[in-house]
Amino acid sequence: MITVEQALGIIRQNIPPAQFEKMALMESLGRVLVEDVFSDVDMPPFDKSAMDGYAVRSEDIQSPPVELEVLEIVPAGSMPTREVKPGKAIKIMTGAPVPRGADAVIMVEKTKYEPSTRTVRCLSTIKKNANICFKAEDINAGAKVISRDTKITPQVIGLLAAVGKDKAQVYKYPSVAIATTGDELVEINQKPNGAQIRNSNTYSLLSQLVNIGMPVTSLGIVRDNIEIMMEKVSAGLKSDMLILTGGVSMGDYDIVEDVLKKLGVRILFDQVAIKPGKPTVFGIGPKGQLVFGLPGNPVSAFVITEIFIKEALSLLCNDAGIKNRIIEAELAAPIASTSNRQQYLGARILQDGLVEPIDGHGSADILFLSRADALIIVPPDAPQLAVDSHVRVMVF
Ligand code: AMP
Ligand code: MG
Repeated sequence: MITVEQALGIIRQNIPPAQFEKMALMESLGRVLVEDVFSDVDMPPFDKSAMDGYAVRSEDIQSPPVELEVLEIVPAGSMPTREVKPGKAIKIMTGAPVPRGADAVIMVEKTKYEPSTRTVRCLSTIKKNANICFKAEDINAGAKVISRDTKITPQVIGLLAAVGKDKAQVYKYPSVAIATTGDELVEINQKPNGAQIRNSNTYSLLSQLVNIGMPVTSLGIVRDNIEIMMEKVSAGLKSDMLILTGGVSMGDYDIVEDVLKKLGVRILFDQVAIKPGKPTVFGIGPKGQLVFGLPGNPVSAFVITEIFIKEALSLLCNDAGIKNRIIEAELAAPIASTSNRQQYLGARILQDGLVEPIDGHGSADILFLSRADALIIVPPDAPQLAVDSHVRVMVF
């Protein structure tokens, strides 16, 4: 049986080359840039006032109070028409161009305007250059402002907008289809009876993918019947990635792997030394599609998605942020369970950097999973772990 690291290695080796697309700025939020971005303007584009106040010659007001004649008012968006000469001032708003002759802006709070004489009384001294943002002090026209491989966050969107990028060249997201298999499954608006259970996997899986911005379609519930499954899987293979849940164990009706092989999917592994999720299947479709068969148990399907599917997606989209962070933490409670497989145990991060394992009843216990915000990674054949042991933790 291959290890988790070997399985990840096989996935990494089989990721098809990244694809790119051009998107409208707002659609590109969350994507990763393919191109360096350069500014087409200086920022600020002109010497601009950082305050509402009066543009003055600093030397004129070295012995306050000083009266200056107010020549005009310059709102943001207007050009000054006059020059500040000795004894003069120009009223100026934040963001307006500083008039010729002025070398500082005194804020309005430190002045008093006298309408009858159209003069302003300056009540304090000011240093040369005070409250002026100089042309190009932030960015020079032509300078690189964002490097390729940067993730487009709201902060980056603001910069892209400022440099006039109304479209961005980004890594294309794969199309993803999911299908869940099982004769026992009923939809969530139905009350299960007899041997039935509700289909929860479709919804946890959809939300795991939607949460990272992935476009995903659900093919719904597929019955454990070769012909029906062939039809659904064929439809699913039109996507770049197909994820199936259930039907990969050793039961008589676990036919997913057979169906995949019949449809030309090359199986690259079908067992991993991982707990939960040992029977996980990974293969490559005839057109290079990535195909995952996850165990049907909800906790297994969830955990394998966090580990293997997010690895594949992060490489396809060149976005390490899709993967969960791995941190080191101290155990707040002991871990008694041992295994020859690598374990991923549901856990909660406590405020003080401690991590607390959550007791569950195994890979169907969806209640305990709902309380977890992390997985403690226990290597294969690790001894029982005492309180205060250092462990690696995957944080959702
Ligand atoms: P399987 O991997 O098909 O053998 O299923 C393993 C267990 O997971 C069984 O108890 C199934 O009933 C359960 N299961 C399979 N698919 C789902 C699903 N979509 N939602 C919830 N439980 C499921
Ligand atoms: Mg099944």
